[in-house]
Amino acid sequence: MKIIDIRTIPLTFRSPNPAMSAGGANAARNALLVEIETDTGLIGLGEAGSAGGPLISTETVIQQELRPMLLGEDAGMIEALWQKMFARTRQHGRRGIVMHAISGIDIALWDLAGKAVGQPLYRLLGGFTDRVEVYASGGFYQRGKDVAALADEAARYAAQGFKAMKMKVGRTRPIGSKLRSLTAEPEVCEVTVAEDLARVAAVRKALGPEARLMLDANCVWSPSVAIAMGKAFEPYNIFWLEEPVATDDIDGSAEVARALPMAIAGYETEVGLYGYRELITRRAIDIAQPDLAWSGGFSEGRRIAALAHAHNMMVAPHAFSSAVLLAASLHFAASIPNGLMVEFDQTAHALRDELLRERITTDGNGMVLLSTLGSGLGIALDPAAVERYRAR
Ligand SMILES: [Mg+2]
Repeated sequence: MKIIDIRTIPLTFRSPNPAMSAGGANAARNALLVEIETDTGLIGLGEAGSAGGPLISTETVIQQELRPMLLGEDAGMIEALWQKMFARTRQHGRRGIVMHAISGIDIALWDLAGKAVGQPLYRLLGGFTDRVEVYASGGFYQRGKDVAALADEAARYAAQGFKAMKMKVGRTRPIGSKLRSLTAEPEVCEVTVAEDLARVAAVRKALGPEARLMLDANCVWSPSVAIAMGKAFEPYNIFWLEEPVATDDIDGSAEVARALPMAIAGYETEVGLYGYRELITRRAIDIAQPDLAWSGGFSEGRRIAALAHAHNMMVAPHAFSSAVLLAASLHFAASIPNGLMVEFDQTAHALRDELLRERITTDGNGMVLLSTLGSGLGIALDPAAVERYRAR
């Protein structure tokens, strides 16, 4: 099965009322799909990371740097191809855009591997479960959205059968952070600390006492502020606190993890085994959240999961992009022994809802069933939707 072509498909969706976190606003929701064509006629589908920069950056690395390395190669030698891409880009790669590009190719190669043997990917990768719990990822700050609207949103998730929900915190003054003052329009939707506490209280009340509630600060706090805020949120029975401090403040995150009773989850903004080695071995996190489209795809994701397993940690993949990444994340979580939950973005997002011929849904009880999926990722793009959201 020789690789004869690698294509990129840049997609974009613009929300009329962007969702905001402590770290910024999601105005444009981009996704960069990767298709790998082989001489058998089989085509593998993946998604590469593109968040935080123009689509063309990741595309250029795939098209001009990785594609020439892979043309003519055996698509079944995934580990060899992964190591070749990683080694040959090491001077300017290892993280960031190059790792995002490698991720998209790796996901597409694994999709091909599944299609070649007629197996859904989670089973080809060993198979741990046929059903994966997903959590409702929402609770953003948004123009015109008050605490009552936030509580309604939480109640809606509970009514839809979700047993867990994540919401944003930390878009506050005056103890927000320098980081947030650097983002666009930091003053929009800014709240006081008391208002932030009221938001969490309202969501807890709307969800009821049983549901798991997670909070995401998107890296904006210093360790001392994170500890103070974590203690203030404690009465609302928080299942995890996500990315409390800056990604590179590993000792700071470990300090927060030691000081607070709730689990510390993170860091989606870290990528690769070597980055996660520091987070995991230094106990900066209790739950690992690699994003498959950023962090090296299935190949590197499984190494991270194994290291987490060796430290008695669960993995809850970050998945906040198109339906292709969501599908990949579900297969990944179903294939490892320490998969906890997969993020299921609930914001208005056409690239999640419209991109596939068959939309990914829950069973009405907060689970996604994988047993009915076909081979590989088990998904097919809707060509009309691809054209509708093609960036150019
Ligand atoms: Mg997050």
